[in-house]
Amino acid sequence: MSSTRLESYRRKRDLNRSGEPAGGRSRRGRAPVFVIQKHHATSLHYDFRLEVAGVLKSWAVPKGPSTDPRDRRLAMEVEDHPLDYASFEGVIEEGSYGAGPVIVWDTGTYRNASERGGEEIPIEQALRDGHASVWLEGRKLDGGWSLRRIRDGAKPQWLLVKRRDAGADARRRPTSTQPESVLSGRTIEELARSAGSGG
Ligand code: MN
Repeated sequence: MSSTRLESYRRKRDLNRSGEPAGGRSRRGRAPVFVIQKHHATSLHYDFRLEVAGVLKSWAVPKGPSTDPRDRRLAMEVEDHPLDYASFEGVIEEGSYGAGPVIVWDTGTYRNASERGGEEIPIEQALRDGHASVWLEGRKLDGGWSLRRIRDGAKPQWLLVKRRDAGADARRRPTSTQPESVLSGRTIEELARSAGSGG
């Protein structure tokens, strides 16, 4: 199933060339993962991804996530990515789709917190309906975030907003104060420099 869902992902890329995962791995019996990758392609953005039904549902968030519940961060829905993309960090080479450096800015597990009238709504349905809520347990981020679709069509747009809970903090600016990768400790600039000098 995930192989057909990843058609769009594979069509856009020469995976032999870019070194990005082709996908197809599936993992069962554990909490679903989330990842936020900082990606400096044509413009700098953060890719917010949630494991849903064997793929990573994905949104590009230009400003990245905020821990301030008053901030509404635009999140542009992009194509599903393979699960093994969650640990991808590297430089997508010039001429390839999304060319530029990628670091894993935060990752961990999440649980679905989508509900209506006290009834849990499965995450797939909540995303179809355009109103989902997730509880992240990452290294930098924790607590609830809501995702609300504000524009449908070919390029759906969503808002990613911190929920009001113990993890909310209007003064914290994790994208500024904790810019480094949770996998390697490198910043995206350090990664780009090391890839550049390595040829
Ligand atoms: Mn991206």
